[in-house]
Amino acid sequence: MEDALPALRESLVCGGAIAVVSYHSGEDRSVKGLFREWARACVCPVGSPVCSCRGRALGTIDPKKPICPSEREMAANPRARSAKLRVFRKANES
Ligand SMILES: [Zn+2]
Repeated sequence: MEDALPALRESLVCGGAIAVVSYHSGEDRSVKGLFREWARACVCPVGSPVCSCRGRALGTIDPKKPICPSEREMAANPRARSAKLRVFRKANES
């Protein structure tokens, strides 16, 4: 998962989005962490005197909150109970 996502992001067209559904909280945590890092403008180590990274976000997390199944969906499909959908949208290059 963590190996596949960066490759997926590379292949995205500008404005394109990656949607990931995770079924376990551990899985969701790594997706969330990765998306958060990509959405940060500066990823320099804490305490760096100057910004030496890319200095811009790769895209945005949209929507900010994960999408969870509705009550009805959970009743119809109990396995969907722990599912979370997160979407990362690649920034338009300018
Ligand atoms: Zn930086």
